[in-house]
Order: sequence, then C-alpha cells, then structure tokens
Amino acid sequence: MASIILIACLAILGLIIAIALFLAGGYLWWRHKRSQLQFIEPNEDEESSSYSLRGGSVTTPTKASNTSALAANDGTSKDSANKSISMTDMYLDSNDPSENVGQIHFSLEYDFQNTTLILKVLQGKELPAKDLSGTSDPYVRVTLLPDKKHRLETKIKRRTLNPRWNETFYFEGFPIQKLQSRVLHLHVFDYDRFSRDDSIGEVFLPLCQVDFAGKQSFWKALKPPAKDKCGELLSSLCYHPSNSILTLTLIKARNLKAKDINGKSDPYVKVWLQFGDKRVEKRKTPIFTCTLNPVFNESFSFNVPWEKIRECSLDVMVMDFDNIGRNELIGRILLAGKNGSGASETKHWQDMISKPKQTVVQWHRLKPE
Ligand code: CA
Ligand code: CA
Ligand code: CA
Repeated sequence: MASIILIACLAILGLIIAIALFLAGGYLWWRHKRSQLQFIEPNEDEESSSYSLRGGSVTTPTKASNTSALAANDGTSKDSANKSISMTDMYLDSNDPSENVGQIHFSLEYDFQNTTLILKVLQGKELPAKDLSGTSDPYVRVTLLPDKKHRLETKIKRRTLNPRWNETFYFEGFPIQKLQSRVLHLHVFDYDRFSRDDSIGEVFLPLCQVDFAGKQSFWKALKPPAKDKCGELLSSLCYHPSNSILTLTLIKARNLKAKDINGKSDPYVKVWLQFGDKRVEKRKTPIFTCTLNPVFNESFSFNVPWEKIRECSLDVMVMDFDNIGRNELIGRILLAGKNGSGASETKHWQDMISKPKQTVVQWHRLKPE
C-alpha cells in the first residue's frame, strides 16, 4: 500500500515538473520572439521627400556645394555633339543583360526657361539582397557623365528590396546642347555600416536620346556592375631540380581593389602549396596597411621533388586584413603547369620548368574568385 502511495506521489511530482518546464520553455520562446519583433523597423514615411538643391531648402551643405559647382561648371559645348556619339557607344550594351538585378523608376523634365534638368528618382523594384539578412539598404548615386566629380545621392532606404526614394534633383545651368552631350548615370548601392557599400546595379541614359518636349518617365532594368577588377601581382618563380627547391617571390602588387571604407585595403598574401587538390603547406607575408600598391619583396621556398613538379601548384591569394570581421579576398591566381587560373599563369609555370635555376618574373591579373 505504502509503495503504491509512493509511486503515485512520484508520478504527480514528475507531472508538476513537466508542466513547469513546459511553461518556462514557452515563456523563453515568447521573450525571444518579442525581442526579434522589436528589431523590425517601423515603415518609413512613404510621402514624397523631394527637396530643392536650388534655393535655401537644401538638406546638406555638401550637396549644396555640389550643385553650385554643377551650375558653375559651364564648360565647352563646341565638340559636345561628337562627344555624345562616342559616349553613347561607350555606355550602351557594355554589360551582359542576362543577369537580373532589378529595375529603377525615374522621370526627367527640362525647364527651358531656367535651363535646368529636373530628375526624380522614384523607386526601385526587385533589387537583389546584398546583406546576410536577405535584404539591402539601397540608395542611388547620380552623376551626369563625363563629370564624375560632382555626384548627388538619395537617402538610404533601410532593409528593403523595393525602395521608394521619391527624391527630386535639379541640375542648373545646362543649356539644352550641353545637356545633350551628357549621360545620366544612376548607380544603385547597398549601404553597409562596417564595410564598403556594395554595387547593386546601374543605368546609363545618354540624354541626347531623351525627348525633352514633356516630362518623361522611365522604368529601366539595372545592369549588373562591371566585372570587378582586382588588381595585378608581380611575382617570380624559380626551380632548382638539383636540390628540389621551388621559390616563389612576391614582388609587388598594383591597383588592388579597395576593400575598406577609406577606399584602401590592408593587403597581405597567403600562399598554399598544393599537390593535385591537396593543400600541403601555407605561407603568409606581413600585412601592409592602407595601400593599394604594396611592395612585398617576400620569398617563400618549398621542397618539391622533380617528379612532383608537374602535379604541384601554388594558390596565391591577395587578402585584405580587417580588424572587424573576416579578412576578405581581394584577388587570387593559381600558378600551375596545367589548369592554372589563366594563360599567363600556365606560361609562367612552364617557363620556370623549361629554364631551371633561372628566376622568371611575370605580372598576373588577379581574379575575383
Ligand atoms: Ca547593407
Ligand atoms: Ca574590408
Ligand atoms: Ca582592411
């Protein structure tokens, strides 16, 4: 009898503990959900936030000076007609349109009386996600090419792939002929707080193609950004069959891609010796801070027997050191006798083998991946 009471007591106790655990779990889940909800930003104002860069209602002083400079920069328009043709050729169909990176909606109007172009940047649609969160923080940079110095920007719209900018820009002091020699460049970026903003896509519209008799509205497909240029690397290779020493010297790099917010990178080079697909040995240069043209002058020697020289390769990665987050790849090459990352890499390797004990120096274009 006593044992039955004991078992019943234990069963009730177990049930109470189970209920308590269930309730505690539910509470924690609710807390978690609530904290997630709090991170969702309220909808931003949908109303038109157009501002004039002409009068006193200027948002930021930098933009004001930009505009006055735009207005003051009344250049030559003598050879503008010729220029507009070549510029048109230059900016048309320069990219592969197959990659869909969204669309942009804008309108153009010309105020003949005040020789002013009025651009409204309205909205973007179906932009690609550039952030880990699955969204982007898009804004638009506006220039009238070939003038790249004076640029205007919309506000940043946070966490959206279908932003509504609704901003108006006035370009003063553009007589119609001068205007028709220009190419409107709208470049959509994803704003990033801790790294360089990502390019989402861009549109080039030669203004000689626009009918300024009335207000024109455009939906244009964005073109993916021009394929990244990573920079070039000067290196030398030397192989001594007698003692099986393969020496790679990293001399210098030039025009490296900027990976940091300050428009520079902190380059170093990481090298892997590989046999087939297998990584065998790793070496690194020191870090060169804040430069796009580092001089490494660093040599690495590896032991590679003659019978293995044809199956071995060097994976050379130029990296950007970062204090916050993972270091980023700037560009890389694979130096190998076959299946190198490019023709110049393969030739370099073959020259090294055909000229034993000689140092063969060559420039290589770095690849983005
Ligand atoms: Ca972002
Ligand atoms: Ca960086
Ligand atoms: Ca860095």
